[in-house]
Amino acid sequence: MVMRYISTRGNAPAQTFTQILLGGLAPDGGLYLPETYPQFSANDLTRMRGMNYRELAFEILSRYADDIPAEDLRAIINKTYTAEVYCNTRPDENAEDITPLHTLEPGLHLLCLSNGPTLAFKDMAMQLLGNLFEYVLDKAGQNINILGATSGDTGSSAEYAMRGKRGIRVFMLSPHGKMSRFQTAQMFSLQDPNIFNIAIEGVFDDCQDIVKAVSNDHAYKAQYKIGAVNSINWGRVAAQIVYYFKGYFAATHSNDQQVNFSVPSGNFGNVCAGHIARMMGLPIKHLIVATNENDVLDEFFKTGVYRPRGAANTYHTSSPSMDISKASNFERFVADLGGRDGEKLRSWWSVVDQGGAFDLSQEGLFEKVADYGLVSGASNHAHRMETIRDTWEKYGVMIDTHTADGLKVALEYHEPGTPMLCLETALAAKFEDAIHEALGRAPERPASMEGLERLPQRFDVMAADVEVVKRFVALHAAS
Ligand SMILES: *Cc1c(COP(=O)(O)O)cnc(C)c1O
Repeated sequence: MVMRYISTRGNAPAQTFTQILLGGLAPDGGLYLPETYPQFSANDLTRMRGMNYRELAFEILSRYADDIPAEDLRAIINKTYTAEVYCNTRPDENAEDITPLHTLEPGLHLLCLSNGPTLAFKDMAMQLLGNLFEYVLDKAGQNINILGATSGDTGSSAEYAMRGKRGIRVFMLSPHGKMSRFQTAQMFSLQDPNIFNIAIEGVFDDCQDIVKAVSNDHAYKAQYKIGAVNSINWGRVAAQIVYYFKGYFAATHSNDQQVNFSVPSGNFGNVCAGHIARMMGLPIKHLIVATNENDVLDEFFKTGVYRPRGAANTYHTSSPSMDISKASNFERFVADLGGRDGEKLRSWWSVVDQGGAFDLSQEGLFEKVADYGLVSGASNHAHRMETIRDTWEKYGVMIDTHTADGLKVALEYHEPGTPMLCLETALAAKFEDAIHEALGRAPERPASMEGLERLPQRFDVMAADVEVVKRFVALHAAS
């Protein structure tokens, strides 16, 4: 029996892994989830403890991507998770670990997820997605034109994952002159002919509005095979489950031990993968949802009220990848919490989609959150600066602003006897201004990134005009 994927809203036909891989939302507006989570027993965990990253990834992902022949999946995983791809380690880390565990003090660790090509954890899943997309498109003899909007992290991660891939072109919109010099150089220095950087004369919201307008033109979308790699993609969530297992085995010596994970959160994709790892049998005590000033999720986990604030009420902070107005993957967790009741999900999200809020304490469901191990806390700019400084002074380790939010909240929950793993979601090198402010010096930069800003750049500047963008994509689309 192959794994069937169903919509959180309960009104879409069940699909297989490769059927949902290239798509976004389910046709009923929900998100796909596997019908059940595969279970790993104590014996399974014992067997998995000695595995390297690639073996673990196969052990876990073969349960989810079970309509891909095992040997093909193994080959895709083996070419994705290599020390050559995840090479941006600190001098004392082993790139062969892929996600090295960096111990700050006994029981307090960083799980380093940002050693991939763009120095953020999104590479962990996106690199796999690039290889999976190419494989599935090749088999079907199809092409895809990926259209996206970015303010930095996601766009560069997608471009580095899709560069040079057969059957894939990437059209990435970014606000002209608004990204950091480092982020701009990272994206615009790519010379691959299948990557198109479009610098829009406007702000990030203009870019996002253009992508939405194109996606709503169904005829255009179908004609030019427009796709996306957004954070609700199931393949991305599945790939992220692996490093929770890897981190667990690295931080413990026996499967009787429990651990805590602290997760800097925005769209809830990363912590959702942790929730699923726990549902599969990984001994996780607490999953700590750390937010910045945009603390919609912290409000939910403290009160049961989910109240997205809208783009206009979202703060721009020094941990910008967590500046979200609504946490798109959150619906997956609520589906589990609500017993996979599609009708309830539809009613809650119909309120949210109209700008409203729902309160699960009124439904008798909020008490159940504790059974899932989820707790939360919020951080702000002053906390971030202080945590970066403390970590540098105490441990000689430089962390970025997002990881600092995670560590700050982790320390509120840290308890002796339970290892705490803080997910490192980006390297400090990506956020020069914030590091300067915190430490009065420039961030460390991996050797592979030296001189990045001096490389020739390739991009097209365009007006914030849907028709202009559509014409450009039509002209350069793969067909
Ligand atoms: C995307 C991102 C996050 C948030 O992750 P989610 O999966 O959206 O919760 C946190 N930190 C960094 C550096 C990111 O790029």
